[in-house]
Amino acid sequence: MSINIWHPFTQHGLGEPIPEIARAEGAALYKADGTRIIDAISSWWVQTHGHCHPKIVSAIQEQSAKLDQMIFAGWTHEPARELAAGLSDFLPESLDHIFFSDSGSTAVEVALKMALGYWHNRGDARQKILVMEHSYHGDTIGAMSVGARGVFNQAYAPLLFDVGTIAFPDAGSEQKMLDQLEAYCRNKDHPPAALIVEPLILGAGGMKVYSPEILKQMAAICRAYDVLFIADEVMTGWGRTGTVFACEQAGIEPDILCMAKGLTGGVIPLAVTAATDALYQAHFSKDRAQMFFHSSSFTANPIACAAANANLQIWRDEPVQGRIDDIIASHQNFTQRLMHKENVSGLRQCGTILAFEIDDNAGDYMSELGPQLLGFFRDYNILLRPLGNTVYIMPPYCIGREDMESIYTVVEEAIDHFHSN
Ligand code: PLP
Repeated sequence: MSINIWHPFTQHGLGEPIPEIARAEGAALYKADGTRIIDAISSWWVQTHGHCHPKIVSAIQEQSAKLDQMIFAGWTHEPARELAAGLSDFLPESLDHIFFSDSGSTAVEVALKMALGYWHNRGDARQKILVMEHSYHGDTIGAMSVGARGVFNQAYAPLLFDVGTIAFPDAGSEQKMLDQLEAYCRNKDHPPAALIVEPLILGAGGMKVYSPEILKQMAAICRAYDVLFIADEVMTGWGRTGTVFACEQAGIEPDILCMAKGLTGGVIPLAVTAATDALYQAHFSKDRAQMFFHSSSFTANPIACAAANANLQIWRDEPVQGRIDDIIASHQNFTQRLMHKENVSGLRQCGTILAFEIDDNAGDYMSELGPQLLGFFRDYNILLRPLGNTVYIMPPYCIGREDMESIYTVVEEAIDHFHSN
């Protein structure tokens, strides 16, 4: 019997090639024959400092020889304690409790359960979760429920719970969205439990950008009506939008903040859901029935925590912010080059993320242009994975000027190629 691998978000029926990678270093992946591929999307937005950063690699090596894995219910270990202490340099002061899990989706599940547990334990029947149109929060059932509905999840619709959806604040319709949010929050018969948002930029929903000012106003409305504000910083966290966390740019402190991907520099899975003392106190009791009922076998895996501690050390020791600023400036220059392309629209930048649409007729995720672009970039040894006709560039921060220029050149070639074809 031969067992075949079933890849994520892959339609095997199309017979697309699935290249094999043998090793990685910095901003590049290498095939066994030595072919070098520039990782222009940080391997699905996880890599921040680059592949196989020596400090993270050696932290993993050392920790795995010392304490590999242990139960975290009722027990603890040094790498987890060190990480909690270290995160206090990066998180707002009000987020003084952290709960570990393994992925962005589970960080979101934990956030939703914390929010509902908070209201339940306080004897308030608030259950409704508010979400933003076009959001993506992961592929587990709860995370899918608070994400956009569509072709991705229509088969699983019976499993998904109902939410209240506010519009995306497109230019000119910001006030409409804020009014909609306020109307939901003001509803005395069914007051919402929480609002969950991707701050400043909606990732998988099409790299849609909105301003820090709008984010700030959303948080203020939630605060005014006692609705918990959950920031899903799984993609935006760890420098992606130009600051360590996107919420910083709006000057807001959410009640709950989810992080994953870049927490370990993108090397090994680990997630954290950070919460305020109020969330923690709502579960703190002599009554065991009020505890936070959530765990997974690998909660706070010591090796993953050691990798995260190495990530924090890199942020302290290396010029990470300078590298981020270089990418931001480089994207700004490239934007000037793209402005004159006839078939390019929606040019936008949020920190290290640059995105735009290549005009076609379908104009959504199922656009045929998506797989065609993917193939085009693959032929040029650039790892870019457009969302339909939306092309975005999100490189690891260690990327050099030459690699950036190679990405830009191939992107320009793709734009011209698909204009004439
Ligand atoms: N939340 C956001 C904003 C994301 O972008 C993602 C993944 O891309 C997730 C949650 C889910 O993270 P994971 O794929 O680690 O489960």
